[in-house]
Amino acid sequence: MADTSPDRFHEECGVVGIYGRAEAANLAYLGLYALQHRGQEGAGIASSDGNVLISHRGLGLVADIFDEEIVRRLSGEAAIGHNRYSTAGQTLLRNTQPFVVEYALGSLAVSHNGNFTNAQTLRKQLEAKGSIFQSNVDTEVLVHLIARAEHSTLLERTISALSQVEGAYSLAFLSPHEMITARDPHGFRPLVLGRFEGGGYVVASETCALDLLEAEYVREVEPGEVIRFAGAKLESYKPFNKERARRCIFEYIYFARPDSRVFGRNVYAVRKELGRQLARESHKPADIVVPVPDSGVPAALGYAEQARLPFEMGLIRNHYVGRTFIEPTDSIRHFGVKVKLNAQRDVLEGKRVIVVDDSIVRGTTSKKIVRMIRAAGAAEVHMRISAPPTISPCYYGVDTPTHGELIANNHSLDEIRDFMGADSLAYLSEEGMYAFTGTGNKPGFCDACFTGVYPVEITDEAETRQMRLFQALERGPKRLRLVKE
Ligand code: AMP
Repeated sequence: MADTSPDRFHEECGVVGIYGRAEAANLAYLGLYALQHRGQEGAGIASSDGNVLISHRGLGLVADIFDEEIVRRLSGEAAIGHNRYSTAGQTLLRNTQPFVVEYALGSLAVSHNGNFTNAQTLRKQLEAKGSIFQSNVDTEVLVHLIARAEHSTLLERTISALSQVEGAYSLAFLSPHEMITARDPHGFRPLVLGRFEGGGYVVASETCALDLLEAEYVREVEPGEVIRFAGAKLESYKPFNKERARRCIFEYIYFARPDSRVFGRNVYAVRKELGRQLARESHKPADIVVPVPDSGVPAALGYAEQARLPFEMGLIRNHYVGRTFIEPTDSIRHFGVKVKLNAQRDVLEGKRVIVVDDSIVRGTTSKKIVRMIRAAGAAEVHMRISAPPTISPCYYGVDTPTHGELIANNHSLDEIRDFMGADSLAYLSEEGMYAFTGTGNKPGFCDACFTGVYPVEITDEAETRQMRLFQALERGPKRLRLVKE
């Protein structure tokens, strides 16, 4: 059974769409390759040969799912693709995308990055009206809404369906005759538009896909924008009420590839600036700055530049670690992180070390890293995090655990420092996180994971809370007190 509890993070994903270009599926495949960091659980491509949709989906990495024969079979000049991120217990083929369905207007394929915050509520309503669901993924709700809409074109049906969903989406739809992409009015998740020399378009979650495909970056698909690609034309629509942009700050902090241009800025440059700001705010006398590779590297470079300290790779990452390995039961303790990272004694011995990572979620990684660095002979270990404490789950498409599992949600700074065994611990301040924008006031970002302030209501959660309250009331006052706690 799926975990449909609303207090769970859902999936991050990568989306790509190619239109008006020979060997579209091959290009989509390369695009998914570039976006592999956005999801490793499964991937798929649907292509159109102008008459029918052809699709292939699988579990695992892009390179393992497709081969030459499969990509050749995905013929046509339009294709959409999807990478899916892992969420506990849901590694199921039927949850991988693109979803391909048949409905009144023919065939339709959908790739979705984000999370609808009223999906469970809509699903219940749709099921009550007779809809039968095949997967546990919120995207399927959208497909049903499109199928039930009473309009004669896919564009109108899509707009009608999107006006009923709440939350975060960057989407690509493909029918045999057209491609449509859409981004939610807050623009939570990224989506960019590119153009091929000689004709044809590409949309992708990040520009690193455009770079690999040698496509020219045109612009972001704007928040609230719906683009229809049909024939040689590109039509842009803004059918929704305008909202304040709420681009996801965590894309900059951890999620996007550093060589991408996301929300109009180079991610690497932003991460370096976060590191510089971290050094300005919380530097301690030390000998070297060591990143937690790979995601901590740009921030550590910025920190080292600002603190005028040597940047050293005191931790080396094994890049060939797969999803599963056989873990010894007790003979080697803390095996998990060691298989990924190794501490270099020659670099660390006798040194006062600043360790820079981008975020702490449960705290288990940092604890193991501190222990490893000490075991390699470091004199002092100072943990520095290039983001504020992660205190709240994301409901807009970033995979993170529940409130209770987030160490900063229920522990003080000193408690976290003691838990990980560091000599000191500092996070970046909330204001410092926005120093890179160069403006004094908080710009249009969503930072709910750091502040607990959610720009779009979590309808599903509100419903569940209300339901729990009713159940508690039915059980009597003693239970009600427990719920309040
Ligand atoms: P933890 O051991 O749970 O504290 O995990 C912290 C590590 O996970 C950090 O090194 C981060 O780079 C990484 N991280 C942060 N957010 C995510 C995420 N949403 N998915 C996967 N890894 C993450």
